[in-house]
Amino acid sequence: MRKNIIAGNWKMNKVLSEADQFIEEVAKKVPNNNNVEAIVCAPFLFLPSLVEKAKGSNVKIGAQNMHYEENGAYTGEVSPVMLKDVGVTHVVIGHSERREYFAETNESVNKKTHAAFKHGLIPIVCVGETLEQREANETMHHVETQITKALVDLTDDQVANTIIAYEPIWAIGTGKTASSADANEVCTHIRNVIKNVTNEEIAQKVIIQYGGSVKPENVEELLEQSDIDGALVGGASLKAESFLTLVEAG
Ligand code: 13P
Repeated sequence: MRKNIIAGNWKMNKVLSEADQFIEEVAKKVPNNNNVEAIVCAPFLFLPSLVEKAKGSNVKIGAQNMHYEENGAYTGEVSPVMLKDVGVTHVVIGHSERREYFAETNESVNKKTHAAFKHGLIPIVCVGETLEQREANETMHHVETQITKALVDLTDDQVANTIIAYEPIWAIGTGKTASSADANEVCTHIRNVIKNVTNEEIAQKVIIQYGGSVKPENVEELLEQSDIDGALVGGASLKAESFLTLVEAG
């Protein structure tokens, strides 16, 4: 059966000393449990230190973005080769904030997903609808387009190893969570879309996380849903204690 993956997305928060303090506490307390995986996705600057301090623990370290090229004249960018070199294992791709503020497109998401696999990184591909799209009943179609375009030309094996994060934009940082049934309905649809581009066996392997105002109070109900296999967590992942509670719920 699929395990649960709890990933913290710190976004643009903390300074290095705070990041180090967090990982020192979390690394020694995170349970050694094969059914749950814990990932901390942090700003680039903190990654080498976090990887070093998480060694030997059950916490993996991820980035929040990357370029799809290996190197070159891309001022200010960070490549998959650089992430792999410092020991990062995961990378968030196509977060709605990157799509909205940094011109990320379905095409760049696909290129970055390919680049992640090429360099041995596991992509966490984010999809989700705006409030306007939800109200216009466009959620399923929108998410289907995002998923299909993100997965273009991946092998079945790569699709099976892609983590999908369903994050309704209206639920991010707003305190509004999708009801667990609504969240599950979209996650089930995502699994069906994956089945259509691959097959049932592959679709059953894909980890689909929910994200959007996940916190210790609502995580259990979300994780009980049939097609939700973890959470991508912003605000509630910033404090060690709350992150550990989420991981324990997994
Ligand atoms: P919040 O948990 O703060 O709503 O953020 C969700 C998110 O965007 C995680 O990637």
